[in-house]
Amino acid sequence: MIPANRVLAQPVRWQQLWRDAVTDPLELLSLLDLSGHAADLLPGADSGFPLRVPRGFVARMRRGDPADPLLLQVLPQAAELGEVPGFSHDTVGDIAARAAKGVLHKYHGRALLIATGSCAVHCRYCFRRHFPYAEETAAVNRWEQALAHLRSDTSIGEVILSGGDPLSLATSKLAELTDALATIPHILRLRIHTRLPIVLPERVDAEFTAWLGALPFQRVVVLHANHPNEIDGSVIAACAALRDAGATLLNQAVLLRGVNDSADALCALSERLFDGGVLPYYLHQLDRVAGAAHFEIDDERALALLRALRERLPGYLVPRLVREIVGAPYKLPL
Ligand SMILES: *Cc1c(COP(=O)(O)O)cnc(C)c1O
Ligand code: SF4
Repeated sequence: MIPANRVLAQPVRWQQLWRDAVTDPLELLSLLDLSGHAADLLPGADSGFPLRVPRGFVARMRRGDPADPLLLQVLPQAAELGEVPGFSHDTVGDIAARAAKGVLHKYHGRALLIATGSCAVHCRYCFRRHFPYAEETAAVNRWEQALAHLRSDTSIGEVILSGGDPLSLATSKLAELTDALATIPHILRLRIHTRLPIVLPERVDAEFTAWLGALPFQRVVVLHANHPNEIDGSVIAACAALRDAGATLLNQAVLLRGVNDSADALCALSERLFDGGVLPYYLHQLDRVAGAAHFEIDDERALALLRALRERLPGYLVPRLVREIVGAPYKLPL
């Protein structure tokens, strides 16, 4: 059951908020009293991966601070230009792992469905910023190949909805997909990888939680927040609604220079997540994607941060520090 007050607390539909996102870098700077910093912007239109950030997320940024940790995640900056050796366009072997149109099957027992290429926010460090979504998305009404793969391999007990952000899809479209998955007897768990409850918590509306709560699978929702300032009261409320719908909540973060590369930020992130009933799962070393080199932290420093977390937090609030290596059978701990 969804408590009536949660339904009434959502007068604006999420689709409207999605459309109202900030897409003009100069507008974003102006909203933050940072118009004087326009010279640091990525010159020209980055047509492949332009700025996109919901206004509710902008409201959590500090005004007048060009180093705000939320701003740095979304602002297209001149630092992205230039080739850096070792940084490429398919860093994690996604193209090789394609098992069927829209399915990445790298690891035993679980397969990842690229439900859509769309996201409510564009994160500059994202390893999928160069992924050929147009060809690879198991687009709505074109699930046949993906479903055929999931049906034919009885070792797959868990389906991961990913993307892009699967919550970009209308709940009715998600329901079409899960109705089909429910006809495959060996699928026991549904996992959803999403940043939407963080950047646009209004997405977790009554229709969505009703769908989630009624699914015939164990449900896991893996959120993606990198900094404690991302998690305000509206995010905590969305987490509560997800838990009420029977989902286990985890978080994955990416270690990012200038954003969360301090023990204070990472400790506060873990504790803030737990305020929402969310356990930290992975802390990813950056995938070496072209345009993101300025976010990289070296392994020695990453391990020092992990040690600091272990000294300061209960074990269950320490994320697993991992890196994805092409061809490895799991995400490798550092
Ligand atoms: C990261 C990933 C998973 C999930 O791995 P877990 O260790 O189970 O969280 C599954 N499939 C693919 C293709 C992935 O990249
Ligand atoms: S897939 Fe996730 S990390 Fe990448 S741009 Fe979308 S929301 Fe950001």
